[in-house]
Amino acid sequence: MIKSKAYAATDAHSPLRPFEITRRDAGPEDVEIEILYCGVCHSDLHTARNEWKNTIYPSVPGHEIVGRVKSVGSAVKNFKVGNLAGVGCMVNSCGYCHSCAEGEEQYCENGFTGTYNGPVFGGENTYGGYSQTIVVNESFVLKISHDEKDLASVAPLLCAGITTYSPLRHWKVGPGKHVGIVGLGGLGHMGVKIAHAMGAHVTLFTTSRSKIEDAKRLGADEVCISTDSADMAKYANQLDFILNTVAASHNLDVYLNLLKRDGTMTLVGAPDEPHPSPGVFNLIFKRRQLAGSLIGGIRETQEMLDFCAKHNLVSDIETIKMDYINTAYERMLKSDVKYRFVIDMATLK
Ligand code: NAP
Ligand code: ZN
Repeated sequence: MIKSKAYAATDAHSPLRPFEITRRDAGPEDVEIEILYCGVCHSDLHTARNEWKNTIYPSVPGHEIVGRVKSVGSAVKNFKVGNLAGVGCMVNSCGYCHSCAEGEEQYCENGFTGTYNGPVFGGENTYGGYSQTIVVNESFVLKISHDEKDLASVAPLLCAGITTYSPLRHWKVGPGKHVGIVGLGGLGHMGVKIAHAMGAHVTLFTTSRSKIEDAKRLGADEVCISTDSADMAKYANQLDFILNTVAASHNLDVYLNLLKRDGTMTLVGAPDEPHPSPGVFNLIFKRRQLAGSLIGGIRETQEMLDFCAKHNLVSDIETIKMDYINTAYERMLKSDVKYRFVIDMATLK
């Protein structure tokens, strides 16, 4: 067994604190990774505070993991000691169901194993990236081809990157398409960058006037203040696709109204309280679709990392020390981060 320092939530109401965990020794197919950086996703906060009512304590969050390979099992083919490597939101799945066979492990019909808090359907708890070391089956480890100097900014691609890339690809976003991204947080800012790199015309919908200039720098062609009904009215029936990343319950109709006939709005934000039900007439009169999307499969995550390396895309980050995590959570709730906190794991002593 490998001992690893970590940070854990021990219940829904206390701050995260130092905690020691053990990792299994690397088996034949396993890669042992020294974690160098870990991004801070809003899902970490939802989980630490049991907002989805499924947290197993103690909980060590973190699923935007990058680091260096420390050891490999005898059957490992694609990783060598010293390589850079990434781990996202999943560390295992059944491997034989319909979804796994198609490389969509996130929809595993038997329930994938989350990097933390998994499997939520039973079995032992798993511990995430707010720790020094992780041991993962090779088939769930990603290759990183970005320059090593960008490593901290690559970490958020492992969740924020793939969660936005996957629906943008699935709904065929590209040149000639007008795409709306709702919310400029960790996911939203990657959505803007990736949709722009795919060649779409991008409009960002934000509640924060202070983010207008930034959004344009990140790749938005237009910015709309979503609380300004006159501004919103300009976009009625204009958009082919909307990616909604908002982490709180809100009225979906104001965005559904912006879709063209046959347009789709896909929800990736996962608030603890349900959204008020969308008005049926808003959907049926224009054959609009309301959809959801969960992270992305391992093959697609590698495709996303390679796409981002090719297009020189990384996340805009604020690097923090491990013991700043509780303050970081409070700031994330106020949308006071541009645009992702990333923990420098060397500060976990
Ligand atoms: P985040 O960094 O906190 O960003 C959320 C953004 O939503 C904020 O920056 C803000 O943008 C907007 N927002 C927040 N509260 C709002 C409100 N009450 N009304 C309107 N807008 C509001 O969070 P994140 O890490 O990007 O995660 C976003 C959500 O996606 C979370 O619920 C997370 O759990 C979920 N998630 C889902 C998946 C998946 O696979 N589907 C994967 C990862 C995360 P503006 O200031 O621009 O308005
Ligand atoms: Zn996440």
